[in-house]
Amino acid sequence: MSNAFQNAPDERVDWGASLPFLVLHLVPLGALYTGVHWSGWLIAAVLYYVRVFFITGAYHRYFSHRSYSTGRVMQFLLAFGGCTAIQKGPLWWAAHHRHHHKHSDMPDDIHSPKRGFWWSHVNWILCPKYNETRWELIPDFAKYPELRFLNRHPWLPPLLLGLAVLALGYWITGTWTGAWGITFIGFFLSTVPLWHCTFFVNSLAHVFGKRRYATRDTSRNSLLIALLTAGEGWHNNHHHYMPAARQGFFWWEIDITYYVLVLLSKIGLVSNLRGVPERVLHKHLIKQGATDLGMFQKHWERALRALADAQTRTGELAAEQKKALEELIAATKAKVEEIAKLSGQKEAAEI
Ligand SMILES: [Zn+2]
Ligand SMILES: [Zn+2]
Repeated sequence: MSNAFQNAPDERVDWGASLPFLVLHLVPLGALYTGVHWSGWLIAAVLYYVRVFFITGAYHRYFSHRSYSTGRVMQFLLAFGGCTAIQKGPLWWAAHHRHHHKHSDMPDDIHSPKRGFWWSHVNWILCPKYNETRWELIPDFAKYPELRFLNRHPWLPPLLLGLAVLALGYWITGTWTGAWGITFIGFFLSTVPLWHCTFFVNSLAHVFGKRRYATRDTSRNSLLIALLTAGEGWHNNHHHYMPAARQGFFWWEIDITYYVLVLLSKIGLVSNLRGVPERVLHKHLIKQGATDLGMFQKHWERALRALADAQTRTGELAAEQKKALEELIAATKAKVEEIAKLSGQKEAAEI
């Protein structure tokens, strides 16, 4: 039995082409030679959160989901800011993200953690097969030539930002050694967690945290990921209702990006922030017995894989596999019965 989530032969990381990405992880070590002025750390914190906002508020909530409106100049600035996070161009990013929502945790989902944690986290980005923008999924923004330009040259904004930090560093310290120290920390060091924390939304946010809503994927809600990504940790909420400009659905679900968007709407830079309708908040709640198809599929796929494994082995090993399989099937059965019971209770309550 083949595993539907196994990567195809052309789904491999090109380590040679990925070398610049890997080397960038080591560049901050340059600060060991130059030393660093305290302002370098401040710049790192500011650039981390500002660029996280551009990824979550611009690449994700605007370009991928159109969760609010804005003018053409602001739209360009949002795309430019997003590019500074060095996560490829806005059209590439948003089109691939739309694809994720279309096929979440199904065999066609490019970065489902069911293909392996590292694959969902970063390896899929380093795979040449997915270098191209999925133009068919982003016609609404691909019509703007200035966005196509940024999408073709996404390295330009981070280059300009890096040079600006270097110039600022020179202005602060008065020496090139000091300027590079500030750049190693302020620009390069802040970029590394910026990458991995946003990648967590594709990897960890489908593995770690709690599920409130029954969705057909494995998305989860996590305060920790929400704090690291300025609001993207409420990923189960987001998969439940994607058009909203907010992902923290309740006041206690901290969503910094949403607060910034509200602020921007108050000063007129953005408008029509889409909210979460009241009926959506209380629909498909797992605790009220909604059938959790996403998790059921996950358990079921594991059982099928274990069965396939057991069938290909013999002797003692097969007996071990058989035992594990029986346990897994019993657990799956218990889960299905629990879901069925809760659904029944819900239906009875509704009658
Ligand atoms: Zn999304
Ligand atoms: Zn997701």
